[in-house]
Amino acid sequence: MLKSHEGEEITMTVLEVKHLKKSFGSIHAVQDISFEVNAGEVFTIIGPNGAGKTTTLEMIEGLVSPDSGEIRFGELDWNNHGNTIKKKIGVQPQSSAMFDLLTPEENLNLFATFYDKARPTEEILQLINLTDHRNNHVKKLSGGQRQRLAIGLAMISDPDIIFLDEPTTGLDPQARRNIWDIILQLKELGKTTILTTHYMEEAEKLSDRVCIVDQGKIVTLDTPAALIEKLTEEREVRLSFLDGTDAAKEVCLFAKDLDSVTRTERKDRSLKLWSTDPENTLYSLFGFTKEKNYHVEQVSIREMSLEDVFITFTGKEWRD
Ligand code: ATP
Repeated sequence: MLKSHEGEEITMTVLEVKHLKKSFGSIHAVQDISFEVNAGEVFTIIGPNGAGKTTTLEMIEGLVSPDSGEIRFGELDWNNHGNTIKKKIGVQPQSSAMFDLLTPEENLNLFATFYDKARPTEEILQLINLTDHRNNHVKKLSGGQRQRLAIGLAMISDPDIIFLDEPTTGLDPQARRNIWDIILQLKELGKTTILTTHYMEEAEKLSDRVCIVDQGKIVTLDTPAALIEKLTEEREVRLSFLDGTDAAKEVCLFAKDLDSVTRTERKDRSLKLWSTDPENTLYSLFGFTKEKNYHVEQVSIREMSLEDVFITFTGKEWRD
């Protein structure tokens, strides 16, 4: 986020996408996608397999031409300012684009020769935490280290906007976290990152805004907190009882009659219910259990996550 002289936050749009469409034969990969990306933010696109995320990214990166729609980087568009846009953006290359028999340092130096202006290799090696491996052949690097090098190669021309398409897919949790650290460092450097991921936790942790795409369309777009907020009209409350199944059955019947309770599910001595007013629902339930002298063993109100948002908006279970 930029600040004015008076300290006010200024939002500057660096990318504007309007009514983007792309079909491959009868497959409508991208049906109508519009969004804006602000300077300095991590903007994440998530969605089920085949939702159109990669196609969207590739159109914005200038690799695939849209059937219709507009892509503008400020005043610049691909038809008239392709070379200038190429200097402003960095795209994480596929692993196959790296030279396996060269070292990370040599790969970075080689990629640097493609540009008029490059960020010093030394700085990039530090940023991607590969200084200790600078002289090892790329073919000897782990999956996580290769992915870090791929981000480094996207950074070599010191672009303002960096595109990372599933940079952590297939990596173990520690290797994933190492990539998260780099994305957060890019943010500190004032870069804008456009990310796709299959990992909900990643989207929730890293993103300023998340765009959920399904069947080539945006189903919702907002900050992770605002998306979760939209769902908190109804919360899941869980209770279990020391007094066994009969107690749970009786409390379940009582809960069903409360106006705030929209749904109940009971299994043995555990009860799950969904309430529009969880606090008052719990007061009523505790009044009832006290009157009956039942003993509550456990009680919780479940935290909502971005995964709940995904399931609500796409109707699909989330799979990593
Ligand atoms: P994933 O999460 O699996 O990577 P995605 O959201 O990135 O999926 P895309 O790769 O954009 O989805 O694909 C969207 C749809 O377009 C899919 O049905 C895919 O099979 C199809 N598709 C993508 N590229 C091509 C192509 N070059 N030729 C034909 N069909 C394509």
